Amino acid sequence: MATCPKRNGDGFQVCMTCDGSGEIESTCPECDGVGEDDLHDTCPECDGTGEAVDECPDCEGVGEILCRACDGEGAVTDGGSPPDPSAPD
Ligand SMILES: [Zn+2]
Ligand SMILES: [Zn+2]
Ligand SMILES: [Zn+2]
Repeated sequence: MATCPKRNGDGFQVCMTCDGSGEIESTCPECDGVGEDDLHDTCPECDGTGEAVDECPDCEGVGEILCRACDGEGAVTDGGSPPDPSAPD
């Protein structure tokens, strides 16, 4: 086993879905990104920005996820060299 090279082997990696922010931006479903409703009032859902900010579903708003390379173990099996046949059991 070798220390996972990602983030010094702390077992976590930055969530790529939200780039570590824990939030993802999407078009406001209430006003369809326009920022105002049919009466041209400011959309209360997005406050007129036309954007909705949702908690990232991948990391649940944390911004980081368990490292996929080491499964959160912080260490990875050396996959480079095949097992030495002369090594003792
Ligand atoms: Zn809106
Ligand atoms: Zn995320
Ligand atoms: Zn790792």
